[in-house]
Amino acid sequence: MANVQVKDMLKDERKRNYVSCKIALDKTGEAVLPFTEDKLKDLHQQISLQVGNQPICQQRCSKVMRDVNRWCITCGLWKQALFGFHTNPRELVWHKLQSWDWPKHHMNLVEVFMLQNWDKANMDASDLSVALTVWKKCSVFPATILPLADKLRKSRNKIAHTTSLDENDKQIVFYNIKQVIQHADVVYYFQNPLEIQNLITDLEKGDLFKFENELNDIVNNTHELEKRLLTVATKLKKPCGQQHSPVPSGSPICGSIEEVVGPRPTASASGACHPSSGLRHFKPSKHSHEEGHYSRHPVK
Ligand SMILES: [Zn+2]
Repeated sequence: MANVQVKDMLKDERKRNYVSCKIALDKTGEAVLPFTEDKLKDLHQQISLQVGNQPICQQRCSKVMRDVNRWCITCGLWKQALFGFHTNPRELVWHKLQSWDWPKHHMNLVEVFMLQNWDKANMDASDLSVALTVWKKCSVFPATILPLADKLRKSRNKIAHTTSLDENDKQIVFYNIKQVIQHADVVYYFQNPLEIQNLITDLEKGDLFKFENELNDIVNNTHELEKRLLTVATKLKKPCGQQHSPVPSGSPICGSIEEVVGPRPTASASGACHPSSGLRHFKPSKHSHEEGHYSRHPVK
């Protein structure tokens, strides 16, 4: 069942475009996670070998000592190695990082390749903005993907600052997504490359029937965003009227998603992905053959 807010949102073509792009970007973030994770795992192994067997840091060096020359041998060696894999190491702010955690897990390296003022609580590598930043700043990611990732980042940023999109902008977003998910190095990490490709195609066509949960999430977030925008607009000048007419809270559930986006296909015709098939519940932190819907460890 879709609530009235979802129904209203989907009646508007520009909002439908926005929603399709938003879901497609989120799904892309989940799908490329194995690629991000495995490259970082390779990097972690490489540095572990290079550094050799060293004692565990006992003093949280980066937190307690601004002078990096006083860091323990382990943190010092990891810092030196990571410096060499950063595409712009001068921007690193060592005391904002957690040096003692680097040897423990490859995903603890994400912070090194993120913007240094990024909120530590949002280092989820299945978030596309995190992944794209890490690809750019870490030299283990193939250079050929960087221009594609840059364009996708622009698309992602555009979506983050709007709630509606015209058809041309929508096509650009989908073009940029497809460029990345069709890149050979990324495709290699999909268990079933057709699955994400089909998902993206469905979203591009506006087939939103599979994405009821995502739609509800988006409508809630969008409502919040629009309320904030309306507040700002009201403060700056006169209210902008109907464009932002708020939907009453607690609106009754009326009508189903089928009324808005067409009939739901039968299970057999619904293709590779169903909302409950695991995509939505994708566990980013420990992908495996069982859990990672798209994941595949490369054969070593
Ligand atoms: Zn240390």
